[in-house]
Amino acid sequence: MTSRAPAGRFAPSPSADLHIGNLRTALLAWLFARSSGRRFLIRVEDLDDRTSGETAARQIADLAAIGIASDDPPEYQTAHTERYTRVIDALSGRGLTYECYCSRKDIRSAPRAPHAPEGAYPGTCRNLTAEQRAERRASGRPPALRLRSEVTEYAVRDLLHGTYTGVVDDLVLRRGDGVPAYNLAVVVDDAAQGIDQVVRGDDLLSSSPRQAYLGSLLGYPQPVYAHVPLVLNAEGKRLAKRDGAVTLAEIGVTETLHRIAGSLGFTAEDPQQMLAEFDPARLPRQPWIYP
Ligand code: GLU
Ligand code: ZN
Repeated sequence: MTSRAPAGRFAPSPSADLHIGNLRTALLAWLFARSSGRRFLIRVEDLDDRTSGETAARQIADLAAIGIASDDPPEYQTAHTERYTRVIDALSGRGLTYECYCSRKDIRSAPRAPHAPEGAYPGTCRNLTAEQRAERRASGRPPALRLRSEVTEYAVRDLLHGTYTGVVDDLVLRRGDGVPAYNLAVVVDDAAQGIDQVVRGDDLLSSSPRQAYLGSLLGYPQPVYAHVPLVLNAEGKRLAKRDGAVTLAEIGVTETLHRIAGSLGFTAEDPQQMLAEFDPARLPRQPWIYP
């Protein structure tokens, strides 16, 4: 790999148009990157949303309209599947993966240890014999591939949350349908793109220990994390398209930048000028309620 200046990024899934909360997170990612001398990259996380080329193009156009562009052409995950295969094969070669035959229902109803963390995979398929594996393989759908984790928790350092320790389970690396899992792809892509700063919504804070642990197994340095508060609607729920009047097309560029600037305590309403006012230490720590 050639050495490049380190980068920050915004990595939307092209499932729907970006709403003002997504745009605010993107702007923050851009401000964190630029204010620390980093490059800034946009990555389209389209492994799950393969049919949405148009949505991705609109997301990129909306970001450009508010002054946020990628220093390199935006990268699409579906164009790099060999990257994921290579890493998964390397982990398998080290004995760090196993096949999992569980359905969601199996996982929900599996017996678990008394203090097993909520939502963690109970380890049902971790120690199957070759015979049991052959039996399950013959009888059902194609297995997912999981990481054989050697820890149950892991600590990350976050610019807004300090040291955060969270659950690491035997996370899925490749789904039963053959698609690389988000947690694997995000770690592999960040490393491949020279990304060493991860700014994103704080709904992903609890995923960061899994991702950082996986990265450590692959010899990647831990990125600098900043998990920023989400934008909520008037009911205190995560802002969504159905809340109405939340996309750039609906709000307009000037008003969108005005609202975002206000929510961040900036007087400037242009990203380049916001840069001069940006101070991570003074970022609001509470969710922003919109409208
Ligand atoms: N693609 C993910 C999402 O839209 C974000 C991934 C990330 O920033 O790590 O929720
Ligand atoms: Zn299983």
